Amino acid sequence: MAEPTNIRIFDTTLRDGEQSPGASLNHSEKIEIARQLEQLGVDIIEAGFPITSQGDFEAVKAIGKDLAQTTVCGLARCVDRDIERAAEALRSAYKPRIHVFCATSKIHLDHKFKKPFEQIVEMSIKGVEKAKSYVDDVEFSPEDGSRTSIEDLVTITQAVIDAGATTINIPDTVGYAVPDEYGAIFRELRERIPAIDELGIVLSSHCHNDLGLAVANSLAAVQNGAKQIECTVNGIGERAGNAALEELVMAMTTRADIYENYKTSINTREIYKSSRMVSNLTGLSVQRNKAVIGQNAFAHESGIHQDGMLKHRDTYEIMDPRDIGVPESKLVLGKHSGRHALSDRIKEMGYTIEGETLQRVYDDFKQLADRKKDVYDEDIEALLDIRLGEGRKLWELRFLRVTAGTDETAMAFVELVDSAGVEQKDTAHGDGPIDAVFSAIQKITGVLVKLEEYVTRAVTGGKDAMGETSVRINHHGRKVRGRGVSTDVIEAAARAYLSAINRIKTMDEVKATGE
Ligand code: MN
Repeated sequence: MAEPTNIRIFDTTLRDGEQSPGASLNHSEKIEIARQLEQLGVDIIEAGFPITSQGDFEAVKAIGKDLAQTTVCGLARCVDRDIERAAEALRSAYKPRIHVFCATSKIHLDHKFKKPFEQIVEMSIKGVEKAKSYVDDVEFSPEDGSRTSIEDLVTITQAVIDAGATTINIPDTVGYAVPDEYGAIFRELRERIPAIDELGIVLSSHCHNDLGLAVANSLAAVQNGAKQIECTVNGIGERAGNAALEELVMAMTTRADIYENYKTSINTREIYKSSRMVSNLTGLSVQRNKAVIGQNAFAHESGIHQDGMLKHRDTYEIMDPRDIGVPESKLVLGKHSGRHALSDRIKEMGYTIEGETLQRVYDDFKQLADRKKDVYDEDIEALLDIRLGEGRKLWELRFLRVTAGTDETAMAFVELVDSAGVEQKDTAHGDGPIDAVFSAIQKITGVLVKLEEYVTRAVTGGKDAMGETSVRINHHGRKVRGRGVSTDVIEAAARAYLSAINRIKTMDEVKATGE
């Protein structure tokens, strides 16, 4: 059998993913995710769109300099200043790629550009040549490619290959394509442009999930000759999102009988951790029934299924949770466990923390173990979430008391500690206990925000379960998320609200110190 074709995984979590409504990542969070993506084994990371903001520019620059194994890519329109900015951001990258794009569909040409197609081809050639003057690795995307006529796609693909592009990505920008149709584009391009195979040009898919077909379309592209898939962790992205990395990779792995001619360099055991990190840092939680990494993906409710599972795992389970790195949920520790045992367990779970942070997590753990008899991995992860999120901590919750009832106005007394260690306290009334707590926090921090979304759920089982609250707040039009975890739902809400406020403060600081 011939050697399987390597399918490059192009991760755009930090670019298309970050464009998700509600997602926002600060500089250090982007670097943390990029490092994890390298662990996961992605081939290319699209780290941002440098012309659009200082933050994107800095992220592409820092990630390019940081990662030695993974290609780091910056996005640019076919406009000189965009390409110059991308090149500047990538100047000290180990493996730089510039990705230029230009819309080519009739609907975009008529309504957005108001230019004839010939001029678009000219612009694209110039864009690719300009990018090529800075880097060897140039990718071109005809935006809205799936709604561009095949004649025009052939013309522009040939033109940009001649101009030096080495990867041609055909985006289904609006998530409109269906698998047969999308796959046929790739087949036809290869048939009509011999240079693709002769020169080893990489064709790439980029699919959106508006019709729930992003993964199916990407796989159809692969079976018709695409050698790169653009995707995001947890499938986050514009609107309904992008093709989900974990679904693509696990489909190809689980059905290796069908996809035997292809391989990726993804280390599937890093999937779970990557998914958790992206969800924690973007604040976009993963739906319970999400394929591969949703909380219910490996849970078996029905009695018949449970019976089958006990007799033989394969009866109802097509994937082994361990293959994607789901930590086996075992009872780990109780109130008598020492710091060493906790530290060992944390290491096994894939985290490296020490010193003061470890001490804080240990203190939290002791407190939790007093309230909750058995402490599971999930509980510890929740504690880690809180403490690791404090790299950007400004305000910390010290104390909270709430009075509420059916016949009285809720009142909250809140005590916070600021970054200088100064205690500040205040009380506030509200429509219910949570509203009162939020009002008190606003009074103390002086950050005025509008609460737009409030979701609370149990992370672990039982009546002493840890509750997780996530909030979305609006601060002068900027939407920011925060998460908090506690066995007490009101405390979880307070922590979530405070983490969002801390995030706003950090973003303001990053902005103020930007070049
Ligand atoms: Mn996109």
